Amino acid sequence: MRLLLVEDDKDLSRQMKAILEDGGYAVDTSFDGEDGHFLGETESYDAIILDLGLPVIDGLSVLRKWRNHGVETPVLVLTARDEWSEKVAGLDAGADDYVTKPFKVEEVLARVRALIRRAAGKASPELSCGTVTLNTSTSRVTVGGSPVKLTAQEYKLLSYMMHHPEKVISRTELTEHIYDQDFDRDSNTIEVFVTRIRKKLGVNILKTIRGMGYQLVEPEDEQVNEE
Ligand code: CA
Repeated sequence: MRLLLVEDDKDLSRQMKAILEDGGYAVDTSFDGEDGHFLGETESYDAIILDLGLPVIDGLSVLRKWRNHGVETPVLVLTARDEWSEKVAGLDAGADDYVTKPFKVEEVLARVRALIRRAAGKASPELSCGTVTLNTSTSRVTVGGSPVKLTAQEYKLLSYMMHHPEKVISRTELTEHIYDQDFDRDSNTIEVFVTRIRKKLGVNILKTIRGMGYQLVEPEDEQVNEE
């Protein structure tokens, strides 16, 4: 899962990026409204965190432009303290949620998780496929109740797949959603990650669709012991 953070306070941005990355997200940062608007319109994000007080173009205008141009990515706005009118204006402009400054970054993280879940049509923080479960709050993955240790990239890939069950997802799409902008992307590594995830889970829920990509599927009853 990949996020865009548009916040001109560089200290706050750095602090938020670190916590969001720890939470299992790839994070792109932008420090003004013009650049942020461009990224939000041209790159693929699972959610956007948008400060309203921004240089060059203010956050509300950025949000209205995105919505007018059909950008449907969930947006969480950061509003100034006690400015109730900002919250209303933000929601009216197409924001999905807001957090008032000053905030705990953990609250932003929890709200972002919820936004991404809801955008994928999921109410519970725990996603499952067959015996595999992925808890988006704790970043824990289990198979039949036993914990499985995945690397950060493997977790991001599996999480993206589990938010989009049944959909065939190309390697390019996966690449766009697990790496931040600055990462030297190589879609061949996706295949390596998928192989490792299958091996670690011990069940194949990531089905290869030839020439197209991968699809999350419930494993069929493999290895039924007849005797
Ligand atoms: Ca600001």
